[in-house]
Amino acid sequence: MSATAVVVGSGPNGLAAAIRLAQAGVDVTVLEGSDRVGGGTRTSELTLPGVLHDDCAGIHPTGVASPFLASLGLERHGLRWLWPEVDLAHPLDDGRAGVLDRDMDRTVRSLGADGPSWRRLFGPLAARFDRLVEDVFQPVVGVPRHPLAMARFGLTAGLPATWAVRRFKDEPARALYMGNAAHAFGRLDTPLSSAIGALMMTAGHAVGWPVAAGGTQSITLAMTRLLESLGGRVETGVTVTGLDQLRELTGAAPDIVMMNTAPDAAARIAGDRLPARVRKALGSYRFGPAVHKVDFAIDGDVPWTNEVCRRAGSLHLGGSAAEIASAEAATARGEMPERPFVLVGQQYLADPSRSTAEANPLYAYAHVPHGYTGDATEAVTAQIERFAPGFRDRILATHTRTAQQMAAYNPNYVGGDICSGANTLRQLVLRPRAGLNPYSLGAPGLYLCSAATPPGAGVHGMGGANAAEQALSWLDTHPTNSTPVKKG
Ligand SMILES: Cc1cc2nc3c(=O)[nH]c(=O)nc-3n(C[C@H](O)[C@H](O)[C@H](O)COP(=O)(O)OP(=O)(O)OC[C@H]3O[C@@H](n4cnc5c(N)ncnc54)[C@H](O)[C@@H]3O)c2cc1C
Repeated sequence: MSATAVVVGSGPNGLAAAIRLAQAGVDVTVLEGSDRVGGGTRTSELTLPGVLHDDCAGIHPTGVASPFLASLGLERHGLRWLWPEVDLAHPLDDGRAGVLDRDMDRTVRSLGADGPSWRRLFGPLAARFDRLVEDVFQPVVGVPRHPLAMARFGLTAGLPATWAVRRFKDEPARALYMGNAAHAFGRLDTPLSSAIGALMMTAGHAVGWPVAAGGTQSITLAMTRLLESLGGRVETGVTVTGLDQLRELTGAAPDIVMMNTAPDAAARIAGDRLPARVRKALGSYRFGPAVHKVDFAIDGDVPWTNEVCRRAGSLHLGGSAAEIASAEAATARGEMPERPFVLVGQQYLADPSRSTAEANPLYAYAHVPHGYTGDATEAVTAQIERFAPGFRDRILATHTRTAQQMAAYNPNYVGGDICSGANTLRQLVLRPRAGLNPYSLGAPGLYLCSAATPPGAGVHGMGGANAAEQALSWLDTHPTNSTPVKKG
């Protein structure tokens, strides 16, 4: 008999954990509370028939960079990455825009006087990206495999974003940098507040910001197909509330339980199987600001003032670096800014299969305070109109998901926090709790594998793959009655 595992949750980390375990010969069942597989990697017809919108994740620099996803050959199971002509644009009120692109020369040209400085900063990081990803997708507390590459990355990542932008003279570079740093969702004047943005920008130059053909759901479908080909299975519509339930559902207590859940949810499910100190630590895990998502069906394209924006797969809207830092500080304090930071996705430019003859899907979300109860749809629309006058006239249909609805849509997004945890200095380094093994729940065979573990949010599956490696090592040293697993 094979060793058995149950994975609670079918987000990309849950599926990654399941695949890694199944590759090693473990008999894996994934239990998903929703009636659809995929967590943050689903695509739906949210507005008009035939118009495909990514419900959550839409742009995949971390997906295409992920060593684990790359190792799976998901292309054989239907996944295809598509790149927009321009990866990212950041328009300004004066009509200029900062551009982040795989083509460093195009980026440098867009940044005028700051171009050479940008190249000096990101050129060497992008050139060492292969080495960098082997370390940045691992827990920060580990020993780096490439200390020199990591040290160089750390010099940029460690700085408060508000300091880092001082190296630039002009607004396109400053705003472009700050908009990327804002992916951390929080104050941008604290140490390490550049870290997530530095990774996004380096990835932009090294591998670009692609989309998945057919929508982000294609990642889920490819991973599910691969899992099933390895003998694993996924059951939807099963919300796990306790470990006893697993015995009832699968006939026997599994050797391994992987929680693709929020940390406090894992503590509730595992109950007194966990040491009290672990339950306490998981219970005090902090969540961060939220999002308000708006999906539009539009007639034609967005009439961006800046021409490059019309060809960009992603856009950051928020004006100057100072304005973005101020808006992010407000949401972190629990206040709704009048002009929130907004991310826009024009995935259909790279992937026309998402559109119909009448309408294109436009993806947008604003950063809002944790648990925000208001409706930020008008604020999102106004930010787009600010850089694309006439946009309102192109709207054919709108679908919104407030912070509260986001939390209801996926229990891992507590209070609407799509990062599954605040990116504070402490939680960037020690996520989800202090300790050498961030995936262990402190009890035999129990692991956490969600975006609340390193390397954090994003569609890369690395939290799941890393947690599965820990579980396989544990199985090696604690043989069960089952057949030994095959590593490698
Ligand atoms: C609006 C939005 C935009 C985003 N944009 C991007 C982007 O462009 N690029 C990017 O890389 N990332 C993006 N993300 C983040 C990305 O989607 C997440 O970081 C990622 O999906 C986390 O993966 P995960 O496997 O840890 O968890 P999730 O994807 O959140 O999946 C967890 C799953 O577990 C299930 N579950 C939880 N508890 C239970 C239970 N008790 N029983 C059964 N099932 C349970 C949930 O229903 C869910 O399906 C975005 C997210 C959102 C919401």
